[in-house]
Amino acid sequence: MLEIEDLTVSYGDMKAIEDLSLTVESGSLTIMLGSNGAGKTTCLKTISRLLEPDAGRIAWEGDDLLTYEAWEIPGLGIAHIPEGSRVFPEMTVMENLMIGADSAHGDVDSSLAWVHDLFPVLEERSEQVAQTLSGGEQQMLAIARGLMLDPDLLLMDEPSLGLAPSIVADVFEMIDELRTEDITILLVEQNASRALSVADYGYVLEAGRLVVQGDPDELREEEAVRQAYLGH
Ligand code: ATP
Repeated sequence: MLEIEDLTVSYGDMKAIEDLSLTVESGSLTIMLGSNGAGKTTCLKTISRLLEPDAGRIAWEGDDLLTYEAWEIPGLGIAHIPEGSRVFPEMTVMENLMIGADSAHGDVDSSLAWVHDLFPVLEERSEQVAQTLSGGEQQMLAIARGLMLDPDLLLMDEPSLGLAPSIVADVFEMIDELRTEDITILLVEQNASRALSVADYGYVLEAGRLVVQGDPDELREEEAVRQAYLGH
């Protein structure tokens, strides 16, 4: 379980996150919704130790993450696929995957077999240069590179951002497939209706504060969520 308690994170004088507490149950797919600037990316970066909080506590399976440096995080089985994460265009599919395996937490061969099993097209295209993949395949490769770590906890920041609607559908299909794996996922998304369709639980942030939480049915019923994110 990922536990965040009373987390406050600032950029200079500006508090991007204030007194945020949330829990991600092990094995769940938990989403974080919120408009631009709500603090979602800041939260993920703080979990993976790229940002130092002013106050608060972050623990993964009881282990205090604030005692670790950013470089130690992958070794704890935590993968962070940042916003705008893209492939290395001139490298092959296999080379891209192997970069993800660099700080592997598990066995590289079994991670590769797992990733190929999840995304067979990446095995078929192993020697293909990444820039010649379709947009959806490139995003699949960016996600697969994170999975090469064999993570227990996967932090994903807006994997559908900037993709054509047809490709967004593919990305969510992939995310849905990951739910059957033994992996805990914290997914940040602006595409609320799709994110709600794959989630077990969700949180909504506004201006750095938690405003609503619940399971997808409860969130869909919330007036604030309907108006701001679902357009009705
Ligand atoms: P988006 O959906 O637009 O990515 P977000 O919810 O991920 O938004 P954050 O990127 O966490 O939001 O930003 C939270 C606030 O912190 C915003 O007001 C943003 O302008 C500010 N901010 C983010 N990064 C920095 C930075 N490096 N320096 C100063 N302010 C920052």
